[in-house]
Amino acid sequence: MRYASVVLDIPTRALEGTYDYAIPPELEESAQVGATVLVTFSHRAAVGYVVRVGSEPPAGVPEEKILPVRQVLAPPCFDEGAAQVAAWMAHEYACTLPDAIHPFRAPGQTVKVTREAEGAPWRLVCEKAGPVDARWVQLTPEAADFEPRKNAARQRELVQALSGGPVRMAELSALVPGASSVVKALEKRGVVAVSRQREVRGSETTTLSSAVAARPQRLTQGQQRALAAIDAARQEGAGGVVLVDGVTGSGKTEVYLDAIERALAAGRGAIVLVPEISLTAQTVGRFRSRFGDAVAVLHSRLSVGERFDQWDLVRQGRAKVVVGARSALFAPLFNPGLIIIDEEHEGSYKQDQAPRYHAREVAAKLAQVRGCALVLGSATPSLESLARCRAGMWAGASWTRVCMPERPGGAVLPQVQVVDMASQFRGGNHSVFSAPLADALRQVVDRREKAVLMLNRRGFANFLMCRDCGCVPECPHCSTSLTYHERTHTLECHTCGRSWPMRAYPDPSTRCPNCGSRYMAAYGVGTQRVEDELRMLVPEGAEVIRMDADTTKAKGAHQKLLEQFDAAECAILVGTQMIAKGLDFPEVTLVGVVNADTTLKLPDFRSAERTYDLLEQVSGRAGRGERPGRVIVQTYWAGHPAIQAVVNHDRQLFLEPELEERRDAGYPPYTRLANVIAWGRDPREVGGYVEAFAKELRRRVGTQPGWEVLGPADCIKAKVKDRVRRHVMLKAPAQADVGGVLGACSAAVEKPQGVSLAMDVDAYDLM
Ligand code: ADP
Ligand code: ZN
Ligand code: ZN
Repeated sequence: MRYASVVLDIPTRALEGTYDYAIPPELEESAQVGATVLVTFSHRAAVGYVVRVGSEPPAGVPEEKILPVRQVLAPPCFDEGAAQVAAWMAHEYACTLPDAIHPFRAPGQTVKVTREAEGAPWRLVCEKAGPVDARWVQLTPEAADFEPRKNAARQRELVQALSGGPVRMAELSALVPGASSVVKALEKRGVVAVSRQREVRGSETTTLSSAVAARPQRLTQGQQRALAAIDAARQEGAGGVVLVDGVTGSGKTEVYLDAIERALAAGRGAIVLVPEISLTAQTVGRFRSRFGDAVAVLHSRLSVGERFDQWDLVRQGRAKVVVGARSALFAPLFNPGLIIIDEEHEGSYKQDQAPRYHAREVAAKLAQVRGCALVLGSATPSLESLARCRAGMWAGASWTRVCMPERPGGAVLPQVQVVDMASQFRGGNHSVFSAPLADALRQVVDRREKAVLMLNRRGFANFLMCRDCGCVPECPHCSTSLTYHERTHTLECHTCGRSWPMRAYPDPSTRCPNCGSRYMAAYGVGTQRVEDELRMLVPEGAEVIRMDADTTKAKGAHQKLLEQFDAAECAILVGTQMIAKGLDFPEVTLVGVVNADTTLKLPDFRSAERTYDLLEQVSGRAGRGERPGRVIVQTYWAGHPAIQAVVNHDRQLFLEPELEERRDAGYPPYTRLANVIAWGRDPREVGGYVEAFAKELRRRVGTQPGWEVLGPADCIKAKVKDRVRRHVMLKAPAQADVGGVLGACSAAVEKPQGVSLAMDVDAYDLM
């Protein structure tokens, strides 16, 4: 008899451990580690995941008391190694075991079960996923002798449509009206045959010319050094980390491609994580053009069905290279030689729902479990990764930094110029474009080149501000400043989505809600306004393409806009942060940053780092081809180290004062920071719970050096969707077991029904 340890998918913290069940002989084949099963738990059916299988019966339980596994609901989606990582995640991020297992499940799989009738087997309810078959129609050899009757025009059309080879039924229906009944008739006469084929959704390829970059003739010295370090770490097989610290355009992607090629030759696969936003056809195309059908792509813009098929390619072993966003880390690729995280500094690698993991940390753990190498790439590595490389070892693995300071082929880094907007304003220029930027844009048009204009949106821009008292109207339901939308004349809350016609807020006049002044004016600028002013500046001769949240809502819109930019002879791309990353268009000679400093005003210890990253990244879009690039940065804060570092191409100018500040204030990378947030409708309940949590936390932390409990306090967003939010922060030494302490705390403090809790270890979003 064999036994299975099962994690039950029941959302109560009390059911933390695993439970043992006997595997009946008929399920021996299918009830493997990673399988989803149906079991009985306290007289009720429950869904669970097998995390271990053995022949030892559980100790201390009489044989007849051990219940059998009732049914296997889904084939394995993880193996022992992955189960080990999930258990680590549950502890590290203080979440439940089922929460930690969920990312490993097949796309679309839910925890609900259903059955056709009493007594029939149960099956899992899946969101529109699961494999699908497409019907294909083709002519049989008999068709050669077939002559449709004179009046059977549609039969003739259909035979004609099939003369070039098999066609999908769905396409036939579009070609020939009433195709399905015609097919039926012809099938009876043996003229056509219908077959079902497994369809693989989500494998579309791109038409972008730049996506099929030719393999370079020779690698730069920096590239060779990086490749050698990666190979060594892979062959050592101990989870070693290589940080490829390469300036924008230094050929990091090329290094990944070569390193993967070598891993494949050694019989191993690779997982490549790319920030969601740069998962464009351009990036994907480069991997597909090198590795063809061995590539599976996973990201959230695919439909559930598409994601399922791509995921299943990996499980079947047909795809050995997975390229995807954060969650691709959990793909069923059980024998990777490499895990690669491109743009490792990106905040989007932190998941903002349970399990609140950081992909870099999970990847480091996974690399140790799998015995492979972890490659981190960035032009602006995170302060955390730089600190670990300085230390050389971290959590039992070696950390090595390889620098790639040059662009291949002698392309030089662009020249960066700062423009002080305050003096522009004093000089009478009230346009969003300073004189130097306006001149440069006109030159781009004259020379038939391309430009990228970035608007730093994630700041206090685009808000309505009272010129008399400085009041910024807030959403009454969320403590978020409302955004002003010029097109529709509305004020919108970007936390809860409510909107007001400009005139109706806060009362029928447009007066300041605070002082009653009539001088309410839009502060900052939106992409729309930049687009409008740009069209006036360069009335003709350049295509203006706007890329922001509004113009990229539709599926594939992002892609289309890039294709349009690619195909244009002379064009200016205007956009938000989303255009800063990953774009590789050699014809871009000018990058303009309309407002560099808005992110500097955010109440977050990482705001300077984010601003520096963003400016360095967007500057890197210029001068990637033969013609030199130029960058113009407009700011009210020209002296800030983050801006000075970008201007002088010297990271040290930013790093030194920043690290000093972090050390003094006790922030990462010198400490670990966890944010515990509670929210609910009843302020007293929420307040009481956070108070009790903080007290328990202080009791456990005591006077240990390096540990500190801050708060409780209201969150910056003190109210969201009518729920009040309070939080308490925990600071701990750099390698402390923060998850362990938080897990114990939440188990010890009883949480009222109406209160929700989020424990965010290594928090990125502090709002
Ligand atoms: P990164 O990922 O660092 O931004 P990429 O890998 O996209 O850089 O490379 C930038 C450009 O340089 C691409 O167009 C790429 O094809 C080209 N390139 C990369 N390596 C070389 C090389 N060794 N020789 C010539 N061109 C190269
Ligand atoms: Zn709101
Ligand atoms: Zn006012």
